[in-house]
Amino acid sequence: MLITTQGHAQSALSDLPIGRTRKVTKAQKFLTVAQLRRIAQEFNREFWGGSLEIPEIKIQNNLRADWLGCTATGIQEKDGRYTITKFYMAFQKSILADERTAKRVVAHELIHVWQHQQMTPEELYNDSRFNKQLGPAGAQRRAHGPDFQRWASKINSKYGDDFVTTTSNSEYKQSVTKEFYLVVVPYNGKFAFNTMQRPTPTALREIDMVNARRTQRGDDPWKIFKSTDPALKDPSDFFEGAPYRKGGRNISLPGTPEAAANLKNLYEKGTPLALEVKTKPGKFNVGDRVQYKNRTSMLGTVRGFDPVSRKYQVEFDMGTFTVKERDLNPAAGV
Ligand SMILES: [Zn+2]
Repeated sequence: MLITTQGHAQSALSDLPIGRTRKVTKAQKFLTVAQLRRIAQEFNREFWGGSLEIPEIKIQNNLRADWLGCTATGIQEKDGRYTITKFYMAFQKSILADERTAKRVVAHELIHVWQHQQMTPEELYNDSRFNKQLGPAGAQRRAHGPDFQRWASKINSKYGDDFVTTTSNSEYKQSVTKEFYLVVVPYNGKFAFNTMQRPTPTALREIDMVNARRTQRGDDPWKIFKSTDPALKDPSDFFEGAPYRKGGRNISLPGTPEAAANLKNLYEKGTPLALEVKTKPGKFNVGDRVQYKNRTSMLGTVRGFDPVSRKYQVEFDMGTFTVKERDLNPAAGV
C-alpha cells in the first residue's frame, strides 16, 4: 500500500519526516484513536493542567487531503441562539505510523482546542464568519497568531524547537451551519437536490404543480425540507438542465457518498414542508370594471386572478391581457 501525503504539506513541511512520498507497508502499525486520546490527555495534563476538554477524535484516510490534522467546530445559529453541533480533531492516517510525527500534530491541534475553549458559541460563530471573510490564507495566519505561538513556545521549550510549528502542519477549519431549505427530487433511483434560502410562494406552487403531474404518472413527489446539514449546503455537481421553476436553478446530484446517504435519509425519513401557498385575496373580483394605471381611456373587465403571481386577466377593448395588481385601479366613475 502506497500512502502519499500531498499538497501544501510538501512545501510547508520539508523539514519533517511527513510531507514526503513514502511507502507504508501493511506490516506498519498505526496509532489508534485510543492512543491518540492518551497522547492528548498527557499534553493536556502537562501544559494545561488537565483543563482542556478533549473533543472527539477521528482518523481519516484521505490521500488527497492537503491537511494532516485539523480541529473543527460546527456552530448553528437559530433565532439568535448559538449551539455547538460539532467539535472534533481529525488526523490523517498517513501520519499515524510515526509516533513523534503524530505527537507533533496532536500538540498543534490541542492549541486550537484551547483557542476554541476561550470563546462562547456566539463568539465562535462570529469568529468563523470573520475567518470566511479573510479567506483560507488569512484564516490560517490568524489561527496561528500570537496566542498560538505563545503555547507553541511553551511546548517547544520542553520538546525542542520546531516540535510544534506555526507553518501549518495542520489546518484550522470551522464550519457554520445556518438553516436553509432544500428541494429533494427523486431521479433514476437516486436523489437530486437544490437549496434555497426560503421557499417563495412561486417555488412552492411550481413544485406543487410538478407533483400533480408526477402523481398522475405514479412517480414519487418532490419534497421540501428545512436543514442545517453542511453536507447538503452546497449543491455543486450540476448534472441536468431540469429547472424546477421557470428561470430558476437546476437540480444537482450530491457530490459525495455522505451527502447522497444524508439526502436519501432525509427524503425517506424526514418531515417535509407542506406545499401550501399562503395567499391574500385580490383587490378586485371577477366582473369588476378596472382601468389600467390612471388611463381613463383604458377600461376593462376582470376575467381572472392568480393569487400567487397576483396578476389579473383583464379584458380590454383591444383584447385580454395579463396585468399586475399594482397596475390596476378601480374604473373611475363607472
Ligand atoms: Zn493549525
